[in-house]
Amino acid sequence: MFQIQTIRNDFPALHQKVYGKPLIYFDNAATTHKPKPVINAVNEMNSLINGNIHRAFHYLGNVCTERYEEARETVRAFLNAPHTDEIIFTAGTTSAINMAAFSFGERYVGEGDEIIITEAEHHSNLVPWQLLCERKNAVLKVLSVDDDGRLQTEKLPQLFSKKTRLLCIAQASNVLGIINPIREIVATAHAHGVPVLVDGAQGVVHGGIDVQDADCDFYVFSGHKLYAPTGVGVLYGKRKWLEEMPPYQSGGDMIASVSLTHTTFNTLPLKFEAGTANFTGVYGLKKAIEYIQNVGLSAIHDYEQTLVRHAVQLMQTIQGLHIYGTAAPKTTVLSFNIDGVHPTDAAQMLDKMGIASRSGHLCAEPLMHRFHTQGMLRFSFAFYNTKEEITATVTALDKIKKMLI
Ligand code: PMP
Repeated sequence: MFQIQTIRNDFPALHQKVYGKPLIYFDNAATTHKPKPVINAVNEMNSLINGNIHRAFHYLGNVCTERYEEARETVRAFLNAPHTDEIIFTAGTTSAINMAAFSFGERYVGEGDEIIITEAEHHSNLVPWQLLCERKNAVLKVLSVDDDGRLQTEKLPQLFSKKTRLLCIAQASNVLGIINPIREIVATAHAHGVPVLVDGAQGVVHGGIDVQDADCDFYVFSGHKLYAPTGVGVLYGKRKWLEEMPPYQSGGDMIASVSLTHTTFNTLPLKFEAGTANFTGVYGLKKAIEYIQNVGLSAIHDYEQTLVRHAVQLMQTIQGLHIYGTAAPKTTVLSFNIDGVHPTDAAQMLDKMGIASRSGHLCAEPLMHRFHTQGMLRFSFAFYNTKEEITATVTALDKIKKMLI
């Protein structure tokens, strides 16, 4: 049984008031709150268990190193990656994609080569590839979405050429919530000899991934959208690529030996982890993964889907409200507009009622252009939200609409 009150009690942030009103937090696609086991783990690290990893031969350094490397194994098992050394800790999704764009780009992308992205990417899975293409004089090709928000995968085969070096695609859109058929897309790309990077920022928290089943070549995600601390994320990559790719940043920990004129590099995964890693955040990530596994990923999924169904049902009663991205399956993200209402005006009024939503271009300007709008309003639910919060919010939204029109 899914014990919502027990779960809510694990998240201190949910029990605060903003502007004197009880907080309703519907901006979980931007960042999630942290449960007590994560908060306690981070507090313990900050107050007691602090020693630099991989270098100190003293008790605290050893404990931190053990915890860091145990976390790597937790992430490996969570993604079902074949090897622990294929898990690189980063500062988040954005830094993981930049690492891949620089390093994969240095090794494999040259003048006239092509990278494929989609029209539905977050700027983080678009701009780094644009910059790579500018640096290398390469070409960025784009897979479009249809009016329902579905990727036009039938058009994918014609985008590949002998010059295609990589396909970069979100597991789930942060705007439309649509979950892409990653396994099929990877199979199509591999049939053309093209590796695939999957941006799991919105997917990892809604169903996760089995990277061996999906067979993707790279998978990236952020801890802070997975109930873990900010400033930690993951780049998974198949060994065959990571071993060939050059280091991204350089400095301590990523070296094997250094002289004044020459450096040899550490083996995986440390080759890609220059400098003191965020070992505190990484340990928090381990605790967050354990927490959601304890609640149960399928229980979380089923409960979240009841929230989405409830929200859609109520939102459809508001005249002039249009939800973008109607193709299934979807995460808990609902982006919409109401005729005659500016999304940011509505978001600001909701905020004053204690309701946190998101508005604007949602870091996906090309998708805004696709849907002929400058911005949207977005609700995104987590498994600590309730139907009562949704009912209260939709009632508030209806009032706001009547005030603004
Ligand atoms: N990709 C997607 C699909 C996202 O939703 C986000 C965050 N909104 C990112 C990338 C970037 O994540 P971060 O800011 O944690 O690096």
